Amino acid sequence: MLILVINSGSSSLKYQVREVNADGTEPADPVVAKGLVERIGVPGSGIDNHVEALERVNEELEEILGDRQIAAAGHRVVHGGERFKAPALVTMEVIRAIERLAPLAPLHNPAAAQGLRAIADRWPDMPQVVVFDTSFHQTMPEEAWRYALPDALYTENGIRRYGFHGTSHDLVTGIAAETLGIDRDDFNAVILHLGNGASATAIRGGRSVDTSMGYTPLAGLVMGTRSGDVDPSIITHLIRNHHYDAEQMDRLLNNESGLLGMSGNADMRQVLDSAHAGHRRARTAIKVASYRLAKYVGGYHVAVGGAQAIVFTAGIGENSAPFRATVLDRLEPLGVEYDAEKNLERSHAPRVISTEESAIPVLVVPTNEEMAIAQLTLKVARQQGAL
Ligand code: AMP
Repeated sequence: MLILVINSGSSSLKYQVREVNADGTEPADPVVAKGLVERIGVPGSGIDNHVEALERVNEELEEILGDRQIAAAGHRVVHGGERFKAPALVTMEVIRAIERLAPLAPLHNPAAAQGLRAIADRWPDMPQVVVFDTSFHQTMPEEAWRYALPDALYTENGIRRYGFHGTSHDLVTGIAAETLGIDRDDFNAVILHLGNGASATAIRGGRSVDTSMGYTPLAGLVMGTRSGDVDPSIITHLIRNHHYDAEQMDRLLNNESGLLGMSGNADMRQVLDSAHAGHRRARTAIKVASYRLAKYVGGYHVAVGGAQAIVFTAGIGENSAPFRATVLDRLEPLGVEYDAEKNLERSHAPRVISTEESAIPVLVVPTNEEMAIAQLTLKVARQQGAL
């Protein structure tokens, strides 16, 4: 069966067509087609919105697929608020609910809703499923998601920690538990999703009990261009004394900070190379990023009541042995000991990189959000009788 997986960014649309077997597993070569439409809404690009972007995708697919039919579409949606605690089959009411959540994700949710409406218009019989970045974290206890702000900001404005990267944290948790032969319901772990965006999640009994991103994906760890945690008074200081407005503040914290802001480069590979060559600012960036991460691991070890695993995933987590080593060196007080050779091995398989003696096993587990979305789409569409 063919599943169309759609990931609508604010100005881009990524898609994959994936083959899924009837039993939910995937064949050896599951990606039948994939592509990217960029510069949506950018003057002169010829693509005004996500509806037109989908037309473009449809033209590409007609050429590749011929008369093979797509069975269902699965969409990554950034924000599901408190309403969506799991993936959902799409109805007009669901699309309206996603649009109502736009204040929480002003660039992403309207784009996703446009894509959902466009498919519903063009292929009214095609089941669509939405998979939210936030929903996996809806199991967090209140002490983890509450900010110490006046109550009304939560009750009236929904200001709370939501957390993101949920599809990846969920998938990787399951694979890590299986790799260690532990029942997921008994599995406590710290999952480190380190890509362009980065977040750490505390897993207790297989569920999210805390996560480093917050009301938006800006909070927590040092990222490629995002600052992660900063003292909020820095923001009022910059507004008051350096004439920043909201747009400039957003740009500073989301696009000009993190590794880029500290070292001049957002790509971890290049920052590590520069640090290796002795450049001071790159070394500082690596130190700040790895120190922050190690503190989160220590905190989450407590939050989960003792982690049975520390798991690295996503672009940096899967591929950067030197960055993993820098973080793991800082975890020695927890009894963490990694095998330097295993850490250097390159592989696409989930693997343990700690020594037998390590107090907490350390794993590298490749994530695959598109695969997870395709499988969830099939599962939800079937459960709801749409397939
Ligand atoms: P993702 O968002 O998961 O696709 O991760 C993308 C990020 O992973 C890039 O910005 C790179 O900084 C990082 N990355 C990918 N491969 C490597 C590598 N071999 N070493 C260090 N960083 C890497």
